Amino acid sequence: MTTYDFILVGAGIAGASLAAELGEAGAKVLVLEAEDRPGYHATGRSAAFWEECYGGPELVPLTLASGEYLRANGFLTQRGALYIGREENAGDLGAFMRRFAPTGATIERLKSEALHAMLPGLREEWTGAVWEPACADIDVAALHAHYLSRARAAWVVIECRARLTGAIREQGVWSLDCEDGRRFAGRVLVNAAGAWADRVAELAGATPLGIQPLRRTVVQVRTDPAPHADQPLVLDIAGGFYFKPEAGRLWLSPHDEEPSEPCDAAPEELAVAEAVDRLQGVVDWRVEAVERRWAGLRSFAPDRLPIYGYDPHVEGFAWFAGQGGYGIQTSPAAARLAAQLLQRRPRDEMTQRLDASLYDPARFG
Ligand SMILES: Cc1cc2nc3c(=O)[nH]c(=O)nc-3n(C[C@H](O)[C@H](O)[C@H](O)COP(=O)(O)OP(=O)(O)OC[C@H]3O[C@@H](n4cnc5c(N)ncnc54)[C@H](O)[C@@H]3O)c2cc1C
Repeated sequence: MTTYDFILVGAGIAGASLAAELGEAGAKVLVLEAEDRPGYHATGRSAAFWEECYGGPELVPLTLASGEYLRANGFLTQRGALYIGREENAGDLGAFMRRFAPTGATIERLKSEALHAMLPGLREEWTGAVWEPACADIDVAALHAHYLSRARAAWVVIECRARLTGAIREQGVWSLDCEDGRRFAGRVLVNAAGAWADRVAELAGATPLGIQPLRRTVVQVRTDPAPHADQPLVLDIAGGFYFKPEAGRLWLSPHDEEPSEPCDAAPEELAVAEAVDRLQGVVDWRVEAVERRWAGLRSFAPDRLPIYGYDPHVEGFAWFAGQGGYGIQTSPAAARLAAQLLQRRPRDEMTQRLDASLYDPARFG
């Protein structure tokens, strides 16, 4: 039986990007994916934006470090983002500026007139905004396919319908059992299982880190007027919604975070209704139809920062999990950094300014 250097569990954006980085650095890599195809869970359900401030100041370095790669390889389309607020949110907008100004994100405070000029139909009570011009749409399917093809070109083996059900380590090698009876051997087991990350840790005898899947709903609506293709992503500074144009329709989320077991997430009617109701309080556009709805699980560590690196207690077990709501936009730098940590390689230009201790599994004690 082949003994792989690394066996990754999960072929979402996390597993695919890390597999490409490890494989290109010369490692023999296997990826196990439970579903029929890679990308079925969180990765295939995202809202597909790259937003510099999303996730808080400790995420900005990862997002910025990833932006150049995404832009250079044609995965980003410039859109711009507006964080909007009412009169009573003026303090929140000011606090946002102070919080993110030192991070290097490009942000600018807008007054009411400029805001309304950018977003025709915005209701009068929305009087202020922070403008983030660099925000972009990500072509998520193309990016995921790019990582998978980079991985395959580096001889990474990707096995679908391969749900890990057992892991035993003997003499420095993991023996891994899949649901269908297949067995694989590898020196390092990497947990890139998204919402299932704590379950996979338990299989390997590692302590779960409290990674909590939170359901997020997105609704596609047809509006009158239809949104302009170049309208910005609009986010509530108080965290109640976001929406953006997509092929003549609007993608809209109530910004829900409902705790869930790891599962094939489905949208709740209440979240759909909330999304539409909140939109009506923001713009005077008429919602003509709810055309599509979906939900996915965003998985967070207790401090909402991702987890990259070797487990401090279980030899040969590593984490690449807790990607939260920003696993796509941070994927280039996250995967590069994680591969460097796992292969004990020096940093490069993309990762040299990142503080890996922020994302170290050992921070949980
Ligand atoms: C509605 C929504 C909107 C979002 N919007 C954005 C956005 O605009 N920008 C952004 O950057 N991010 C966004 N995200 C977050 C982003 O989608 C996630 O951070 C990212 O997809 C996580 O990738 P992952 O590979 O860790 O997880 P997943 O894509 O869920 O992949 C994990 C994989 O592990 C597999 N697996 C689990 N257990 C096992 C096992 N035992 N054996 C084998 N395989 C297993 C699963 O089948 C799954 O395919 C959004 C998420 C949601 C839900």
